[in-house]
Amino acid sequence: MPDNISAILSASAGPVAIFTDFDGTLVEIAPSPDAVIVPADLPQRLERLYGALDGALAVITGRTIADIEGFLPHQDFSVTGSHGAERRHDGEIEDPDPDHIAGARHIAKALTHHLGEEAGILIEPKPTGVAVHYRAAPEKRAEVERIVERAVAGVSGFHVIEGKKVVEARPVGTDKGEAIRALMTIVPFKGRTPVFIGDDVSDEDGFIAATDLGGFGIKVGQGETAARFNLAGTAEVHAYLDALAERIAARAANQPAQSQEESMVK
Ligand SMILES: [Mg+2]
Repeated sequence: MPDNISAILSASAGPVAIFTDFDGTLVEIAPSPDAVIVPADLPQRLERLYGALDGALAVITGRTIADIEGFLPHQDFSVTGSHGAERRHDGEIEDPDPDHIAGARHIAKALTHHLGEEAGILIEPKPTGVAVHYRAAPEKRAEVERIVERAVAGVSGFHVIEGKKVVEARPVGTDKGEAIRALMTIVPFKGRTPVFIGDDVSDEDGFIAATDLGGFGIKVGQGETAARFNLAGTAEVHAYLDALAERIAARAANQPAQSQEESMVK
């Protein structure tokens, strides 16, 4: 096992809650958001981990919940989508703020008007925000930024966030850090050590929140980060998650024998 994975496993020795980003973390980044390929063994890996963690597993993503359910159907883990503006927990999807929905619609309309015909630009309306992807036309970055800034300026309570080849309009106060802080107040996350895994600038809020709450961040790839650990890519993320699930399962297998001894003493 690589040294970095062993070090992360040592740091996650107690009961942990795993929070993980999706794109670039669980799956490789694709040329367009819907071209992502879910590895054949990922669904089973996540089911096993969910069981090992007694449900303390959540995907924290900029994508919508509907998107995640499309890629990973029939999963029980919690999902915080649209950078914290939408949440699915215990199989229930909580309704987003109606002001956020109205603001996002307004911004999407303006962006479609200004960028809808632009080659290589993909406008992705979300329930509570709008993402503008320029991966297919990286030379248009400055233009996209300017137009999104202008569209957002007219709507109160929204701001602009940059990601990898994407510029997003999002409600102020929704970020991955807030998403983790909120989940950490409820069962089964509460009382566990939070670990957040992500690859992008928008994941930094999550690393800071996990650290503040007594846990740590794991940055996938290189770059300046508030995360304590690094993993090279999605293959290493999968290896860490598998090793963690295995270790918890091995401990649980030893547990019944131990409690039997304890009850005999009593
Ligand atoms: Mg990502």
